Amino acid sequence: MNWILILALALIVARLAAELWLSRVNQRHVQQRATSVPDDLKEVLDPATCARAVEYTLAKARLGRIHDLWSAGVLLLLLLTGVLPLAFGVWAGQVGHSAWADAAFLLLVLVALSITALPFDWHAQFRLEERFGFNTTTPKTWWLDHMKGLALLWLLGWPLLALILKLVEWVGRGWWLWAWLTMLAFQLAMFFLAPVILLPLFNKFTPLLTGTLRDRLLGLAGRTGFRARNIFLMDGSKRSRHSNAFFTGLGRFRRIVLFDTLVQQLAESELEAVLAHEIGHFKLKHVLKMLGLSALSALIGFYLVAWLAGQAWFGQGFGFRTPTVASTLLLAGLLGGTVSFWLSPVLNHWSRRHEFEADRFATGAIGGPGPLIGALRKLNRENLSNPAPHPLYSAFYYSHPTLPEREGALNPKTEVGVT
Ligand SMILES: [Zn+2]
Repeated sequence: MNWILILALALIVARLAAELWLSRVNQRHVQQRATSVPDDLKEVLDPATCARAVEYTLAKARLGRIHDLWSAGVLLLLLLTGVLPLAFGVWAGQVGHSAWADAAFLLLVLVALSITALPFDWHAQFRLEERFGFNTTTPKTWWLDHMKGLALLWLLGWPLLALILKLVEWVGRGWWLWAWLTMLAFQLAMFFLAPVILLPLFNKFTPLLTGTLRDRLLGLAGRTGFRARNIFLMDGSKRSRHSNAFFTGLGRFRRIVLFDTLVQQLAESELEAVLAHEIGHFKLKHVLKMLGLSALSALIGFYLVAWLAGQAWFGQGFGFRTPTVASTLLLAGLLGGTVSFWLSPVLNHWSRRHEFEADRFATGAIGGPGPLIGALRKLNRENLSNPAPHPLYSAFYYSHPTLPEREGALNPKTEVGVT
């Protein structure tokens, strides 16, 4: 074995070990701290709901560990057996080495990998979520979703990837910069198209035509200077009882979307608070900063791929006798997660700071923290959130602060009062 392969294996094993360890630590923490309702959630959870939330947390953790083991195993197998260079060779022998053919091979590997993950998806949806009353998806919808996803992958992903590989032929050394620009243009186009073409493939969007809720939410949008032409209800209940709210699109196409499940769960004043929080993300430029960050990481990613493609030892270490940009892209795609995993605490820290800022914005926009706290408490309860996550676990996996952390920041006085 050569050093690059050993390094890759070490990275995969290190990530797996960290995932399993974090899961264990978190499990023990929940089991010890949530035997009865934790003090900071006394006003939020009754003992029965708390016990159910613990059960849900533990069940998800078990499935998560099996999934982590499985994905690491599949990845190790792919890299150790040398099946990738072999299959790529056979493929190229049949269809040649054009940008389209290479791109198709990369997508086929992606599809094969996602097929190995299907049983986990199925189990998570129809066993785990079902057992806790969250699942509303039918097997038919589930299969249709996967088929549509697959169709979109080929319809959009294939030409994009082929174009990127074509750029290597057209511009040579500086291809990575052009590939990055192409990617940005594609993402921008998706921003416009997603609400109009992509999302309606999966869900029904009904404009909220009249009523006090609409007046109230548009009033908030007007007050905070957030231009939105319409508010849409989305049939989230088609798949799950979990709830959400978001906005999509740019400029004229921007729309506010509320899950029907959210509207069922929250009072009007609480919905207003949730929307104010989302508007906060926009007004405080969090959305822009996140887009900037993802553009920057894509730029670094493309540069690294271009550099690695020029280093014969990299591809050869994994058994590609004549490494190309396509084979390097494939390896980078497979191994990217093992490196970026270690950056997640930094990214989550940043994201959590944004959440606090958006909460503060919402409080200002609606004149007090009451409705937001009310909404967060209900959502915490409805979603059976982990009542006592371990701090290290949440550092790696939580993009949002916990409920007590958010309440504490919104209302420092109550936290002192409770203790
Ligand atoms: Zn948020």
